Amino acid sequence: VSFKARVVETGDSIQLARRAYREIALYSPDRSPCRVDISDNTNLFGIPPAAERAYREAAVSTLTRYPQLYAQQLKSALASYAQVSAAEVVTGCGSDDVLDSAIRAFAEPGETIALPDPSFAMVPIFGQMNALNVAKVPLTQSFDIDADALAASGAKLIYLCSPNNPTGTLASRRAVEKLLDRSPGIVILDEAYAEFSSQEGFLKLAPRFERLLVVRTLSKAFGLAGLRIGYAVGPAPLVAEVEKSRGPYKVSGSAERAAVAALTEDRPWVNARIADVIQNRARLAEALQKLGLSPIPSLSNFVLVPVKDAMALARALRQEGVAIRPFQQLQGIGDAVRISVGPWEMMEDALAALRKVLA
Ligand code: PMP
Repeated sequence: VSFKARVVETGDSIQLARRAYREIALYSPDRSPCRVDISDNTNLFGIPPAAERAYREAAVSTLTRYPQLYAQQLKSALASYAQVSAAEVVTGCGSDDVLDSAIRAFAEPGETIALPDPSFAMVPIFGQMNALNVAKVPLTQSFDIDADALAASGAKLIYLCSPNNPTGTLASRRAVEKLLDRSPGIVILDEAYAEFSSQEGFLKLAPRFERLLVVRTLSKAFGLAGLRIGYAVGPAPLVAEVEKSRGPYKVSGSAERAAVAALTEDRPWVNARIADVIQNRARLAEALQKLGLSPIPSLSNFVLVPVKDAMALARALRQEGVAIRPFQQLQGIGDAVRISVGPWEMMEDALAALRKVLA
């Protein structure tokens, strides 16, 4: 037996991994194929047409050479979408990558990242991966961020999500501005779902704040989760640090071309889908109320519904061919299920399964 094989056999190899990684499990929500998958808040209305065309055209011609180092054309297209300059934009392989790169760029191992609770489940994991302490600060009773408590944490990094995943609620402008005034470190404001909120958010303002990064994605409103394109906007010096941390060649050539096409030609399609989501979100909330449920009022493309036993409900719905995302014992809420808003036929399908399961 060679030395290498022996190490693996005895299980010692785990000792070779970074200490911070030992407690981390692979991200594994149940994503087995399901007839109606409304579990991951992606755009359920199809493919933006110009992006599809550009992707098909680019698919083969971009295969053999490296893409642009830092996706310059994409940065320009995003800059005009965000109404900022290209030096104030950094892209990445999904906003997951942008978040991870930003965390790595600004926090040393042993420092603290603070975030509201509940919020985006991946962020504590990115914190852990980067050997940070994670401080969770409960949302207020009205689901706003607790700016005082977040600032008082003294954390080097503060993560906010607005509209927040999984609650669908906004961080109030007043609380965000208060936090920006008081936070000793960098504030990362994740606006992955901002397009569904009918509010402007902080995207175009981000470069005017000294320590704010606004993170967004093409995975949600733009319907391009498979492309893996995320980005952050902020003051150029901060953005440059994130770019160092993310490294070159993170966006493939075909993804870059499709994303540029979506941003420049598919905006009418995207806006129509956002309007569909907003309409169906209200209809879905009403239908859920009729079932005796109390969905939390959402400004996103999903609704969070408190329930008695989320895992049991998710299992029963799966039997009916419907995948939703269960959450156990969320801070201040208890068990809940998150339902993505899609075309109305899909919602009816899900509602029929819910009716059957709850009966
Ligand atoms: N931020 C939030 C709040 C999300 O919900 C998600 C998707 N689950 C992401 C970031 C990551 O999205 P992506 O990597 O596809 O851009």
